[in-house]
Amino acid sequence: MLLRAALTIAIGASTAHAAVARDIAVADQVQFKAAVKAAKPGDSIILADGEWRDFQIAFTGTGAAGKPITLTAQTKGKVILTGQSNLRLGGRHLVVSGLIFRGGASPTDQIISFRRDSKTLAFDSRVTEVVIDGYSKPDRRAEDIWVALYGTGNRVDHSHFEGKTNAGVTLAVIRRAGDPLDNRHRIDHNYFGPRPPLGSNGGETIRIGTSEESLSASNSIVERNIFDRTSGEVEIVSIKSGGNIIRENLVLESQGAFVLRHGNGNLVERNIFLGKNVPDTGGVRVINRDQIVRGNYFEGLAGTSFKSAISVMNGVPNSVINRYHQVANAQIGNNSIIDSARITLAAGADAERSAAPTGSKFERNLIVGAKGQDPFRAEGEIAGIALSGNVEAKVAKPLLGAGVEQREVKLERAANGLLYPTDPALAAVGAPRDLKPVKREEVGANWYRGNAPEAAFGTGTTRPLAASASLAQAVAGTKAGDTLSLATGTYDVTTPLSFRHRLTIAGAKGAKPVLRVAAGFARIEGGGGLQLENLAIDASKLSGDGALIAVDAGVAPNYSVTLDRVTVRGPGKGRLDGIAMAPGTFADDVTIANSDFTDMGVVVAATGEQQPKGWYPMERLTISDSRFARVAMVADLLRKGTDESTFGPWFAMSGSSVADSGREGASLRISGAQHADITQNSFAGSEGILVIHSVGAPETRIASNAFAATPAPRIEELAWKGPPRGVISGNIVEAHP
Ligand code: CA
Repeated sequence: MLLRAALTIAIGASTAHAAVARDIAVADQVQFKAAVKAAKPGDSIILADGEWRDFQIAFTGTGAAGKPITLTAQTKGKVILTGQSNLRLGGRHLVVSGLIFRGGASPTDQIISFRRDSKTLAFDSRVTEVVIDGYSKPDRRAEDIWVALYGTGNRVDHSHFEGKTNAGVTLAVIRRAGDPLDNRHRIDHNYFGPRPPLGSNGGETIRIGTSEESLSASNSIVERNIFDRTSGEVEIVSIKSGGNIIRENLVLESQGAFVLRHGNGNLVERNIFLGKNVPDTGGVRVINRDQIVRGNYFEGLAGTSFKSAISVMNGVPNSVINRYHQVANAQIGNNSIIDSARITLAAGADAERSAAPTGSKFERNLIVGAKGQDPFRAEGEIAGIALSGNVEAKVAKPLLGAGVEQREVKLERAANGLLYPTDPALAAVGAPRDLKPVKREEVGANWYRGNAPEAAFGTGTTRPLAASASLAQAVAGTKAGDTLSLATGTYDVTTPLSFRHRLTIAGAKGAKPVLRVAAGFARIEGGGGLQLENLAIDASKLSGDGALIAVDAGVAPNYSVTLDRVTVRGPGKGRLDGIAMAPGTFADDVTIANSDFTDMGVVVAATGEQQPKGWYPMERLTISDSRFARVAMVADLLRKGTDESTFGPWFAMSGSSVADSGREGASLRISGAQHADITQNSFAGSEGILVIHSVGAPETRIASNAFAATPAPRIEELAWKGPPRGVISGNIVEAHP
């Protein structure tokens, strides 16, 4: 009897399913709207293969458990959303798969939103095998979120996100007062591909919550994702809620850290961080109560301070919700920290952050410092962190004693690719043996790989160009990565040349080309980059002022400029800047080597961004073995504000000479850089060097320079209350008249 009843129900369900489950093919936006209205649980709406331009998809409906309403592609990966497209889901049991967003940007502040509008959220819904590749707003300051999770029980999996160059989190769980907060979302098996440094706060790859609602639990899970060079800012993953689990992710050469920024009781477990010694690669940063960080593996992480392999921060007594709550009851155990630069305890201790970690444990961790150095640093009181059972590869003067045994540690790479001690006595110390690094083929959409990285300089075709030829025409006819090879002779540049991709212009070997410039030389307009080598630029007859190389507003993605063996003669001191950046643009690198500049304005004019929001124009500015005479400044670099979210800018100058130069009290002004290294240069008859610290823990070294008839270098502090930080040493300052 019982058996018979069960059988009848099963047949009934199966018949009903067969009767209603339909594939509804749609070929245009009108058909799509009708299909959404008609769709019943179990139905699939199928977009025809091809390009769908300017398609703002509103996908709503009510599916059922086991019978979702699905929106998918006729062929996965053959439906491309371009132009101003986006996707909103609202309802229950909805699934989206197989779509690509590429060649455009969202017209709104989100690309994929798990809500139709503020009243219609999505629940128990899923986005799987979806690609967003380079779908960035062209102005890097214009903010959007690529995937915004609202509601509860939603999942984002097996998707591919790469190339976000504008502000805003790649994937955010949004938790507003009044919306459900116990989210229970799952974010798994995704490929988070390269995200270049943003040069501002707002470059996180994942954020769960915001400070306002951070004392409630989101209970979301982030697992078995790959983070590949996700270097947008100091927070790769920013947890701002409680009860989340972040486990078994693989983090490759990514600058920044997983940060338990707000909220309590999160678990960070069995993640693998491989930094390959890329600067600023970090691990896990702990703030707040009841956080567990266990069984993680960290190798080759070069980051220090907030980007240490592990950092445990100091808090603010009675902190307001958006500052730093004191660390209490943190349990940090069985992690392996190998070939890594730092473990920082009581990180960020200062007059405001004076509440030391309390009631916390640091146990059975295995520590092997980089280059045989002790990675431990304590920036404040650490008596509230109980150390026990840790093992550290022997260093000369260990910071920590009891609870951190010093001994020989021999490591061997296991079948899973990770390093473990060979001594069986250490079996219970460090990360577990059964870690299984997630493989590339386990994550993302298996039918999608991003384009090969854009052609590097000098990898394309070399095209010789005679002096009689038009440089403008030749530039227009190039492809990314090409080199224009110039002969001895004069090339006239009457109006600035436009650069839309990476290009090298170089004097042929032994040749001495001269570019005679009437009104600026180059405009970098987008996706661009410029390398000049072995040539002279004569701008001495230039009319008007302006810049030799102007980087236009809206240039994206990040570009770079290199000048090597370039001689520039300008129209007079104070006129014609060298390289000038519009606000909102961002260079990975600006490099000047073996070059000469005379009678000009500011050679690198990088003060376009005047808002105090932490935006800055380039990650690295490097000057070496170059000569500057009668220029307004060698470089004027500005990063304003006190935000602590970024890595740079980095500035380095070495082996160069500066004569009869300067204005406004400086011949070189570096403001807001995180790293400044100025060594072995000579300054004569010039204004001095001014380095201004505004934020973070800047590292400045001004060493082994010579100053003749030039004031001594200065470091100014805008926020720090103590004496100016930094090293000024070994300089020779001759009497200044
Ligand atoms: Ca941030």
